Amino acid sequence: MGIKKHTIVTLGSHSALQILKGAKDEGFKTAVIATPDRIALYTSYKNFIDEIMEVKTWKDFPSLEKDLLERNAIIIPHGSFVAYLGMAENKQMQVSYFGNKLVLDWEENRKMQRLWLEEAQIKVPHKFKRGDRIDRPVIVKSYGAAGGKGYFVSRNQKEFDEKLKSFSEERFIVQEYVIGVPVYFHFFYSPLTSKVEVMSIDKRYETNVDSLGRIPAKNQRGLNIDPSFEVVANIPMAIRESLLAEAVSMAERVIQASQKLISPKGLFGPFCLETIITSTEEIYAIEISARIVAGTNCFINGSPYTYLNYNEPMSTGRRIAREIKNAIKLNKLKEVLDG
Ligand code: AMP
Ligand code: AMP
Repeated sequence: MGIKKHTIVTLGSHSALQILKGAKDEGFKTAVIATPDRIALYTSYKNFIDEIMEVKTWKDFPSLEKDLLERNAIIIPHGSFVAYLGMAENKQMQVSYFGNKLVLDWEENRKMQRLWLEEAQIKVPHKFKRGDRIDRPVIVKSYGAAGGKGYFVSRNQKEFDEKLKSFSEERFIVQEYVIGVPVYFHFFYSPLTSKVEVMSIDKRYETNVDSLGRIPAKNQRGLNIDPSFEVVANIPMAIRESLLAEAVSMAERVIQASQKLISPKGLFGPFCLETIITSTEEIYAIEISARIVAGTNCFINGSPYTYLNYNEPMSTGRRIAREIKNAIKLNKLKEVLDG
């Protein structure tokens, strides 16, 4: 079946514009599934969105299954999929899905994620078990892709105990707070070429932690401001080449480890290593996102790094469509779909 017979579909949020623009540039038909509040936005991009499939709420998405199967849809997951649909619903859908759904369990469960990173010999911040003495600054994180929502930091045991009393999340982890700068590396692994590509790098702009420095400490005293980590936007970065070498090696190890732990296919397609880099140039991974991340939206027209591999604008969204197109040409579509 040629590429004209398939429709690339995604949920209208997160990185949908990038994904669908990329799919159109590669020659696919495109459709977006959108709630009423977003119809106007997607209608204004008729130049690359062929069809808008409206649902009242995200929960109605599975009711579109028949329509999607008729269109030979290939769904491209992004950060909103599990957040909006729930894990079980997402797994049950029979529509073709770019990526490996088995990876979702490893991504969602912070313990499994840690096992994966350790298997890949990547440095991770110290994790405190229930009952451990809090002997350094910590960050407390809830589960799931929440974009930094509902995190809190504590300097010591006393502060930790106090804050935990009013913390409503049931599933969370307590991690050493690493002093350094956050750097988010975006990669793409192609099972067709067995190669990891650097796509781009960003840092997040988080409220209010990224603006506390604007108020001198002496003026903050008494205001009782707690840092929070809710992402508002993403900022593009270019990184020291020596650090890039280490990041690429980390990415390759993540893929190898995934092929062992989540065998046989492991992780493929876009992924992001979310790191904190310290003053001694140690790279700590705080999280891995096994899908396209919103930071790639800074690079819809390509990044300095994709320019090295492609003499045309290559976003992560477009790279996904290119992979599907190459797979169709090689008669290997199954290799890039779930199942
Ligand atoms: P939205 O596109 O705003 O509907 O976001 C959908 C979900 O994706 C949010 O609930 C977050 O979990 C996640 N998300 C959105 N924007 C970002 C971002 N810039 N960085 C990381 N995660 C994000
Ligand atoms: P995450 O949801 O794990 O990507 O974390 C969201 C934000 O919290 C990051 O961008 C950092 O600003 C901050 N953060 C998370 N974990 C740590 C950590 N272990 N040390 C320092 N900052 C962290």
